[in-house]
Amino acid sequence: MDQYRVFGNPIKHSRSPFIHHSFAQQTSQQLNYQSELIALDDFEMKVNKFVAQGGKGANITVPFKEQAYNLCNELSERALAAGAVNTLIFKKNKIYGDNTDGLGLVQDLLRQHIKLKGCRILLLGAGGAAKGVILPLLEQKPLSIIIANRTVSKAKALCEQFKDKKISGYGFDQIDKNEFDIIINATSASLENKIPKISKQLIKPNVVCYDMVYGKEMTPFLSWAKKHGSVHLIDGLGMLVGQAAESFRIWRNVKPEIEPVIKNLRASLLAE
Ligand code: NDP
Repeated sequence: MDQYRVFGNPIKHSRSPFIHHSFAQQTSQQLNYQSELIALDDFEMKVNKFVAQGGKGANITVPFKEQAYNLCNELSERALAAGAVNTLIFKKNKIYGDNTDGLGLVQDLLRQHIKLKGCRILLLGAGGAAKGVILPLLEQKPLSIIIANRTVSKAKALCEQFKDKKISGYGFDQIDKNEFDIIINATSASLENKIPKISKQLIKPNVVCYDMVYGKEMTPFLSWAKKHGSVHLIDGLGMLVGQAAESFRIWRNVKPEIEPVIKNLRASLLAE
């Protein structure tokens, strides 16, 4: 049976095996998908070992997406733009790298009827996840994307990399006077029960607030946004399933339905 992995550290709570086995069942594909914890300095060795064992593909999660990028023989345009890889394809003695995170986000927003064309986006964070979503967001023709990050130099460096007039980079305390239609939290602050220190004035009833993090409870960022008046609150569960669906399509050449998997995953999260 074709073998797939998700490599990360930590990895225990990964939902990817559940998602990919759901896709496989839905599309009648025969495959086995497991999560594997990798020690921080073992990434290359473990991936090569899996390739030697005949592995067909892998997802890569925190903190190995940049290392995965460096390991690839060939990269997709979106992986090149992101500087990070979350999907590896092993074919004909070569490693191909792609990044499906951005598509997962964009599809999740569009699925929920959120218009991206012409909108003003605030992207919080300048790490791998933020980097991965910029090109797919730009493809939707927003009016502007402001990247705000705790470490301002990283937000500015990201803008430099994309060289697009629609993108600019700031610190959290430099954007109080701006107006946004969508605020996307691509920081990992929610994982530490923290929120990015942006002004509550940015939260208005019509502003869509999206947190890439998800969980049983509402994330700290979404709770904070709700408290300050936002009614459009979305967590990253749909993005997670969306990016997995695109990896699955790349590997198996068949596109799974994401709605039933999102529903089942939400139910299993709530039941924990
Ligand atoms: P990185 O470690 O590459 O980047 C982390 C980012 O979060 C940096 O911009 C960092 O700022 C910022 N940050 C961390 N702690 C705080 C804090 N307390 N206050 C403000 N900013 C903070 O992580 P990734 O970019 O890979 O991932 C970010 C999040 O997105 C993770 O939580 C991950 O789980 C989630 N994610 C979800 C996906 C999904 O499918 N739903 C897909 C991919 C990621 P600084 O530069 O100053 O350190």
